[in-house]
Amino acid sequence: MRWIGGRQSSNVDDRRGVSAGGLAIGGGVIGAIVLILRLILGGGGGEEGSLPIQLPGQTQEMSPEDKAADDKRAEFVSVVLGYTEDVWHQLFSKYGDQYVEPKLVLFRGNVQSACGMASSASGPFYCPGDQQVFIDLSFYQELGQRFKAPGDFAMAYVIAHEVGHHIQKLSGTTDEVDRLRGQLSKEEFNKYSVMLELQADFLAGVWAHHAQRMMNILEEGDIEEALNAANAIGDDNLQKQAQGYIVPESFTHGTSQQRIYWFKKGFQSGDMRQGDTFKDPSLR
Ligand SMILES: [Zn+2]
Repeated sequence: MRWIGGRQSSNVDDRRGVSAGGLAIGGGVIGAIVLILRLILGGGGGEEGSLPIQLPGQTQEMSPEDKAADDKRAEFVSVVLGYTEDVWHQLFSKYGDQYVEPKLVLFRGNVQSACGMASSASGPFYCPGDQQVFIDLSFYQELGQRFKAPGDFAMAYVIAHEVGHHIQKLSGTTDEVDRLRGQLSKEEFNKYSVMLELQADFLAGVWAHHAQRMMNILEEGDIEEALNAANAIGDDNLQKQAQGYIVPESFTHGTSQQRIYWFKKGFQSGDMRQGDTFKDPSLR
């Protein structure tokens, strides 16, 4: 992906060096395990001293090389967010609407959001309550190593997917689906959750289509990187290798095949009106 030197968004809130308070624990799988241990043991209080085990790497400072790499990834995220702003401003104004830009919070380990306390184990997410995207940059590496979906455009797809959730919030779709939460059985509601997720994939594809047209960002193999990521983080594949790794709502994102289908549909058409996953009979 061509991004170096691109405009960085001014909507990035860099909280990588900030502790989220009582839950300053290691990220990733370890963080999740500790979180679970805490719930089981009912430690409460959240004092660091009450932990029964020593966390590997908990107090380790980043090496200068790691820090430089981390900063590079932060810059990348900021440029991609800027590209989403450019595209969505143009598409919204085409339909006579005004795009309201989301904020993007970079964090490390864990973070407080209007959706509650989250750790990096939950992966990148969008919180409709504060209209913010949350990303722990360690996911970038995880995408390449754990999910075998390396490449900058794989990460760009993930960011575009989260911004897709913001579009759904702006369009009222998120609230509509949310209203169904209490009215439907868990099983029925999961279907709507899948439709919401697949539409976010579609919107990521629409973004890629227009970002390419406007800014010529794509290099050879980029779309394959995105499709590979969509494939890797589909529910069926996640389930297969989930062992101990927690992804909230991991059973509500759609299969790998579905995710690829909707991203492609958005990328090929670039037409927002073709993304009504809620009317697709195969998803009902
Ligand atoms: Zn999502």
